[in-house]
Amino acid sequence: MINETKENKELKKEVESRRTFAIISHPDAGKTTITEQLLLFGGAIRQAGTVKAKKSGKFAKSDWMEIEKQRGISVTSSVMQFDYDEKRINILDTPGHEDFSEDTYRTLMAVDAAVMVVDSAKGIEEQTKKLFKVCRMRGIPIFTFMNKLDRDGREPLELVEELEEVLEIDAYPMNWPIGSGKNFLGLYDLYHNRIEMFRPDESNQGERFIPLNNEGAIEGEHKLKRESLYDQVLEEAMLLREAGNDFSEKAILDGKLTPVFFGSALTNFGVQTFLETFLQFAPAPTEHIDVDGKEVSPTKEEFSGFIFKIQANMDPKHRDRIAFVRICSGDFERGIDVTLARTNKKMKLSNSTQFMAENRESVKGAVAGDIIGLYDTGNFQIGDTIYEGKQAIKFESLPQFTPELFIKVEPKNVMKQKSFHKGINQLVQEGAIQLYKTYHTETYIIGAVGQLQFEVFQHRMLNEYNSEVVMTSIGSRIARWIDPEQLDENMGSSRNMLVKDRFGRPLFLFENQFAERWFSDKYPEVQLTSLL
Ligand code: GDP
Repeated sequence: MINETKENKELKKEVESRRTFAIISHPDAGKTTITEQLLLFGGAIRQAGTVKAKKSGKFAKSDWMEIEKQRGISVTSSVMQFDYDEKRINILDTPGHEDFSEDTYRTLMAVDAAVMVVDSAKGIEEQTKKLFKVCRMRGIPIFTFMNKLDRDGREPLELVEELEEVLEIDAYPMNWPIGSGKNFLGLYDLYHNRIEMFRPDESNQGERFIPLNNEGAIEGEHKLKRESLYDQVLEEAMLLREAGNDFSEKAILDGKLTPVFFGSALTNFGVQTFLETFLQFAPAPTEHIDVDGKEVSPTKEEFSGFIFKIQANMDPKHRDRIAFVRICSGDFERGIDVTLARTNKKMKLSNSTQFMAENRESVKGAVAGDIIGLYDTGNFQIGDTIYEGKQAIKFESLPQFTPELFIKVEPKNVMKQKSFHKGINQLVQEGAIQLYKTYHTETYIIGAVGQLQFEVFQHRMLNEYNSEVVMTSIGSRIARWIDPEQLDENMGSSRNMLVKDRFGRPLFLFENQFAERWFSDKYPEVQLTSLL
């Protein structure tokens, strides 16, 4: 048996307490509200509304470093950390709306679980589907929170069915709403075999939880038993028990079964039950596989991690960037020597920050599962591995995502080609945007998954490379790659623009689905593929 050192035992204990996850949702489903509630439980913020504050102002979120400085803690940052029930929880932000970008997808590469918040009046929406796809590809557990039960929404059964159908995942309702909107009485908690009252009132001594007997009913006299909704929920619960999926922890961990919780984030109802149950099943960090198939255990003493996001400061006075590192093994200490796997370059990590640390100046006790930020002066690219010690480690590079929005770019001043090319190439390598060129004319086209990426691009070109760019929107396009062997340049047209990516691989930018279908009908033998 391996003789465990004291340090290793401590590291193991620390790593096992980590829970690192992202909350995904369609804009307005309630992600911010629920995040605030979770932070409140953890005592990380004193007052609800603090996270909300970041939503105002166009570039408000990018000003987070400034806001953090003023507040002393980083409630507004992209990573929020708090302790609850002897666990250390890291929530990674996945921005929606106009802040949606490839970073949003990449963030999902750095988490061990995902929580999906759904507006119960709306059901599964488009953006959630895309994010969900990435979670599925990674096979991480997904927990669902059906929100806004205090409002009239859709039938719970219909919501769960839609979830299973649209996302192709099995669902297991952990609890079930008793009524909704004005008639919302509470939750029938199948998992804990109890009822959780929405508004505990005097008539039942203000009790929040009512225990249920072995038949899943309230024992003895109770006011709730006189409600027709009570009979209804008993029937529904029976149906779920008989006809629903079986509960399986393994299926949850494999990402094949999503536990579904109902609740109302705004009224802070069902959130704590959700959090506690979630913590019971969400996994602690596990091993990461490197490109040689080697398993890197989170409790390996030497530090390793990968960069999943680089955030540039939008403030022209601060040119620094922050590279976000997901720690995969060991613990991080200020000043450690690491190797950057891509270049084999050795470096000392002295200037770093841990998110949500009491004192931003020091990184204390960051271990596998945690996220740290490294001040970056241009050394890092997205997907880079850094590791401590002699044993070389290189994690798989992060997947590329199929861009959906495209613009043509050119330098405003044709005399400044050099800085234009330098800037574009660096930003592409860094993973800020994707670059394409048209055949023959070599016009530069950049692609993104969110509009914000273009704005950041334009801003950084000007501020970091002194290159003013002119951007002409092409709008949204469907990008599909084609095998070069099958390509005939005459296949391109105005409705399916032929371009090549930065590796020289040919692809078409289809105007719409109709154009893509028309193409496939015309060239049935041609295989078209997309990235993720
Ligand atoms: P996000 O865009 O997903 O972060 O959504 P927000 O948390 O900002 O919520 C969007 C809107 O829905 C806000 O006006 C919230 O106050 C509201 N909201 C969030 N949760 C609930 C809820 O449980 N019930 C009701 N009625 N409104 C909610």
